Amino acid sequence: MNFHILTLFPDMVMDGLNTSIIGRAAGKGLLSIEAVNIRDYAFNKHQSVDDYPYGGGAGMLMQAEPVYLAYEAVAGKLEKAPRVVYLSPQGQTFNQQMAEELAQEEELVLLCGHYEGIDERVLEEIVTDYVSIGDYVLTGGELPAMVMVDAISRLVPGVLHNDVSAEFESFQDNLLEYPQYSRPEEWRGKKVPEVLLSGHHANIEKWRREQSVLRTKERRPDLLEKCELTDAEKKLIEDYESEK
Ligand code: SAM
Repeated sequence: MNFHILTLFPDMVMDGLNTSIIGRAAGKGLLSIEAVNIRDYAFNKHQSVDDYPYGGGAGMLMQAEPVYLAYEAVAGKLEKAPRVVYLSPQGQTFNQQMAEELAQEEELVLLCGHYEGIDERVLEEIVTDYVSIGDYVLTGGELPAMVMVDAISRLVPGVLHNDVSAEFESFQDNLLEYPQYSRPEEWRGKKVPEVLLSGHHANIEKWRREQSVLRTKERRPDLLEKCELTDAEKKLIEDYESEK
């Protein structure tokens, strides 16, 4: 999978993504990440890319033409028009389902705004998806783009050492992941749940599923509403509620 990030701060993006698992995956050629500096496409000698908004108001706006030229530089090299995500607090909130869907793309362009955002006309022209990483306003789209690249990349086959670890995780089936433990068996008086030491695979799976259900009920009841539960799991929740 190939990510193309249109940004005014390419170093910020590349420094952040060139480390650890994502950096290693890029090194192995499982994915590629290029940051395209929008400033390289400024059309004036001062290389400025922003101007005052018509109608007044606070702050500056990124101009349409440099953004468009940066997009063209990427799209012109591709066989078909790519999906272009504009990172924006006005977009749909990013989630695991969206990450899974976007991981199917071969090419993905991520457009990072700055200042007060970007001239609407170029957004109308090139953007296919508007995505937010949450209901708060950041200074730029670089951190959101990095969040998206990270979440999507780990779903690309081969990026994680063990593909199974991307399968049984929080948000799969609208459930949060069960609690996990590593050595030692006892830490400061706290023991690892007995069932996990039993070696009994079916019992371990049952325990994990129950823990996932209860944890989701406790921390993210909104997710549980979208989850298909068995009668036994519904009863488990009822018992848990009445014990509280
Ligand atoms: N004036 C814009 C508004 O009210 O919608 C906010 C602009 S924000 C200060 C500058 C840039 O940061 C945006 O163009 C966008 O790329 C990025 N940004 C800020 N918050 C974001 C969020 N929650 N999710 C995704 N991108 C965000």
